Amino acid sequence: MIRINNIKMPVKHSENDLKKTVYKLYKINENEVKSFEIAGQAIDARKKDNVVFVYAVDISFKFDEETEKKRFENVKNVRKIEKNPYSTKKIENFTENENVKRPVIVGSGPAGIFAGLVLTEAGLKPIIIEQGKNVDEREKDVYNFFKTGNLDKYSNVQFGEGGAGTFSDGKLNTNTNNFRIQKVYDELILAGADPKINYMSKPHIGTDKLIEIMRKIRHKIESLGGEYRFNTKLTKINYEKSDSKNNKIKSILVENVENSDKNKIYEIPTNIVILAIGHSARETFFMLNEENVTMERKTFSVGVRIEHLQSMINYSQYGKFADKLPAAEYKLNVKTSNGRGVYTFCMCPGGVVVPSSSEEGRLVVNGMSYSQRDLENANSAILVNVFPEDFPGESVLAGVEFQRKLEEKAFELGGKDYKAPIQLFGDFVNNKISTKLGKVKPSYLAGYKFANLNEIFPQFINDSIKEGITLMDKKIKGFANDDAILSGVESRSSSPVKIPRNERFFSNIEGLMPCGEGAGYAGGIMSAAVDGIKCAEYVIEYYQNNLCRQ
Ligand code: FAD
Repeated sequence: MIRINNIKMPVKHSENDLKKTVYKLYKINENEVKSFEIAGQAIDARKKDNVVFVYAVDISFKFDEETEKKRFENVKNVRKIEKNPYSTKKIENFTENENVKRPVIVGSGPAGIFAGLVLTEAGLKPIIIEQGKNVDEREKDVYNFFKTGNLDKYSNVQFGEGGAGTFSDGKLNTNTNNFRIQKVYDELILAGADPKINYMSKPHIGTDKLIEIMRKIRHKIESLGGEYRFNTKLTKINYEKSDSKNNKIKSILVENVENSDKNKIYEIPTNIVILAIGHSARETFFMLNEENVTMERKTFSVGVRIEHLQSMINYSQYGKFADKLPAAEYKLNVKTSNGRGVYTFCMCPGGVVVPSSSEEGRLVVNGMSYSQRDLENANSAILVNVFPEDFPGESVLAGVEFQRKLEEKAFELGGKDYKAPIQLFGDFVNNKISTKLGKVKPSYLAGYKFANLNEIFPQFINDSIKEGITLMDKKIKGFANDDAILSGVESRSSSPVKIPRNERFFSNIEGLMPCGEGAGYAGGIMSAAVDGIKCAEYVIEYYQNNLCRQ
């Protein structure tokens, strides 16, 4: 099989046009082709008067490898490739006994789900515990919160089946280049995602589809012997304490947080706990700290969400082709005069700003979109790096307290009912409360209140946001328009802590495996899913080499 890169096509074309172009350029007769697959698709908009699609395609032939080599070796933009599907090691006939127990995964976000999928395929019958609800019940709670302001602290945009990624834009971008990514795409497609995610340079699913996909992946895990326990919160870890390095996990305590069994606490004996708890699991971070699990402070970012008209972004990115292409994206980063990095994050074309609180009295915003990305506004986080030395206190969890303070102030400014405090960018710069909107209308789903967002942050963050947005206007004309809408507060872009793991992927307790974004090993849906798979591989090895040998 060969891959041909860098095939340029005009904005308007069909897949058949692409095939014809490739065959003509590389002198290929259609009759000799066994399979033709698009392997990559990107939009090259560097020249605004000549925007083109750029493709990579994979072709296999009916003739033998020798002929393939003779014809395509050393041809520009062509290389030989091999595709090897991901394969999971199997543990045959796994059964529990007194010493060997089923692995437990805490959290059903992308990291937990993909760890669960691979462990199930290996035959290990994991138990996935999740403090939130399944996606169907969760969806009701989330939209009820948007409508009424009644927050369910375990079932919201951060918590519940699918984790923080479910009510999201579902962007699948990643900076990592890892063979496990294909496994993630394959499973998402099997569960109903558009197969185009396999080749788009910026793949995207949309929240409407993600809900269905999460449900289907659960059914697959259950049909293979895995088990989900919703409304079930990890409250304590029990481990054998030892003077040597080998503290070993023995069991966990979990609490039922809903329904007739509410507050019931019970024990699950286990040898392995994959801790895929996400970046917002504050109560759990505090519990782990009390249990002497080693954690470190880490750099993270905070800021606001900005909204513009999508039509303005489209024009800026695609010029005269704006109406002919999908909603445009952007990714910007600048350095301000105080030395801070300011960058856009989780940009949602044609999307909405979403109420993302998970604690009472604390307000958090984020962005999501539906699969069509056809709403009026583009939104994105504008984030400023904060370093451990920026927040007071010695505690390893000082970053959490710093985030909480910002969220409390945003809640207060929004009127204490989860409406978002908003301000026009021009008024933010001039430090005055806005009194009317310009062309851009806020999309925040739970209502808004005019406020002065300068009151939320320390001065250096306000200065950085103002200068950062102004500098970004040099890259996208109109970015710093006076009527761009800002809402606050964006405080959950990444975890405020890291839970270090050793060469066997364990924390300072053998069997306790930090995983995904909450532990500081991922940033986004794809990297969290990939880290989940990696953790599962280490767990399989541990069962093979240690537990199942006894
Ligand atoms: P999470 O998804 O956070 O999952 C952790 C789960 O663990 C939660 O469901 C939580 O309830 C559970 N949990 C925590 N503590 C306990 C406990 N003690 N007991 C039981 N369960 C527990 N990323 C992208 O790549 N693309 C996007 O477009 C995108 N958009 C986003 C939009 C929004 C609104 C939000 C909030 C996030 C978005 N993200 C996006 C980020 C992405 O969702 C996260 O990076 C990703 O979900 C992290 O995966 P995870 O599995 O590590 O943790």
